[in-house]
Amino acid sequence: MKTFRGGFHVPDNKALTAEASVELMPVVTDYYVSLAQHIGKPAQPVVNVGDEVVEGQLIAQASSFVSANIHSPVCGEVVEIVKRKNAQGGVADCVHIRSNGKQDKFTLPPLTDPTPQQIVERIAEAGIVGMGGAGFPTAVKLQPKDAVDTLIINAAECEPYLNCDNRLMIERTREFLAGVRLIARAINVTNVYIGIEANKPEAYAKLLEQDGVIPDTKDALANRQDNDIVVVLLKKKYPQGAEKTLIKACVNREVPVGGLPAAVGCIVDNVGTAYAVWDAVVNGNTLHKRLMTVSGRGIKTPKNIEVAVGTLLSAIVELCGGLDDNAVKLVSGGPMMGFSLMDLDVCTTKTDSGFLALTDKEASTVLPTPCINCGRCASVCPMRLMPMYIDFYTTVGDTENAVKYGALNCFECGTCAYVCPAKRPIVQSVRLTKQKAKEKK
Ligand code: SF4
Ligand code: SF4
Repeated sequence: MKTFRGGFHVPDNKALTAEASVELMPVVTDYYVSLAQHIGKPAQPVVNVGDEVVEGQLIAQASSFVSANIHSPVCGEVVEIVKRKNAQGGVADCVHIRSNGKQDKFTLPPLTDPTPQQIVERIAEAGIVGMGGAGFPTAVKLQPKDAVDTLIINAAECEPYLNCDNRLMIERTREFLAGVRLIARAINVTNVYIGIEANKPEAYAKLLEQDGVIPDTKDALANRQDNDIVVVLLKKKYPQGAEKTLIKACVNREVPVGGLPAAVGCIVDNVGTAYAVWDAVVNGNTLHKRLMTVSGRGIKTPKNIEVAVGTLLSAIVELCGGLDDNAVKLVSGGPMMGFSLMDLDVCTTKTDSGFLALTDKEASTVLPTPCINCGRCASVCPMRLMPMYIDFYTTVGDTENAVKYGALNCFECGTCAYVCPAKRPIVQSVRLTKQKAKEKK
C-alpha cells in the first residue's frame, strides 16, 4: 500500500458509525445560515427580514472572485440577520430562517452533456465549496493558473471517527463517480485517481464493482483505458488525507513549500464535493445540505446523517438521543483537526463533516508540561518541520523565529501534538503565530 513519510497510526474509532446508513435529518424550526462558510470574502445577503424563501433559493451572493453563493436550507421566513459565534471561535453574520412547514424547492435547470465551462459555472452558481473542511470555492479551484494533468479525489477520510465520505461512497457510488467524471471534464483531464485508506474495505469493493474503475495494481494499470479511474489503496496512517501527503502517495509528486497542488499539475477534491457537483449538474440542486458523522462515546446513538446547512448542533444531538453524562469534550469536525466547542449553540456549515462528543477515556484533559526535547514531534511531522521550536518561540512571543522554523508551512494536522508526551499545544501555537504574522503583514 502507498503512503508518505512521517505521520502516525492513530486509533480510528470508526466502528461506532461505519455500518450506520445515512439518515435524513427531519426539518427543525430555526436555521442560522452563516454568510462566511468558505475561504474568501463572506457572501452578500440578497434577502431582507420578512422575506419568504424556499428550499434551495439563493439568499446570499458571492461577493468577490474568491467567495461562494449561499442558499436557503428550508422553506420559511427570514427572521433576522444576526451575528453568531461559529465553531472556529469567531463571529459571522447569519441569516436566521424560521421554517414554515412548506415543501417547495428551487432547483436550477438540469444540464445534459455540459461543456467544461458550463460545469464550472454551475458549480459557482450552486455555491459548491471544498467539503473536506477547507471550504475553498470549487469553481475557483477548477480554474488554476498552472496547467494541470491529474485529478485526485481525496477519499482517505483519515480523521478518526468520521464516516460520512465512507458511507457516501457505499450508498451513492454511481452518483459520486459521475461527479468525479464531471470534475475531470471541467478541468479536461483523463488521469483520475481516488485515494482511499485501507480501513474502508466495503467502499473500496463498491468502487471497483463499477465500470471504468480499476485498482492501482500492475496488471490493471497495464490494461488501463483512457477514461479509467484508478483507485489507490492507501496505508492507514494519519494525516493521509492532507492534500500534500495524498498527492505524494498517489502520484509521487511533491508540492513545493508554500505552493498549491496545481504547482505539480494536480487538483484535489473531496468525496462530498464530487457528489455535490453531480447533484448540481444533474438535478440542479444548490448546495444546502451535506452528510455528517455524529459520533464519540459521549453521544447516546452515534449516526451518519444528511443535515441541512444552518442546523443547530443542539437539534442534531437531540436527534442522536442526547449526550451521555460522561461526555467531557465537544468537537466540531474530527478529533485531530477539529475545533473544541464551548456548547451546542453553533450551526452547521457546508464544511462540517462531523460532530463528536468525547468521554474522558477518549479525550485528553491533561494540562501541558514543559517540552522534554524528545524529538517525537519532529519525527512524525509530514512537512519535516521542527514543531518543538515553533511551539517554544510562540510561547516566548518571538513570532519571527516561529515563522523561521516553518509555522506558515504547517497545515495543522495535529500529529505532533498527538504524540507529544508533554501535551504541548503545538497546533494552537502554530495558529497563534499565523495570526500574528498575518496582522504584521
Ligand atoms: S508541525 Fe504542523 S504539519 Fe507538522 S505535524 Fe505538527 S501540525 Fe502537522
Ligand atoms: S514531542 Fe513534545 S516534548 Fe517531545 S520535543 Fe516535541 S514538543 Fe517537546
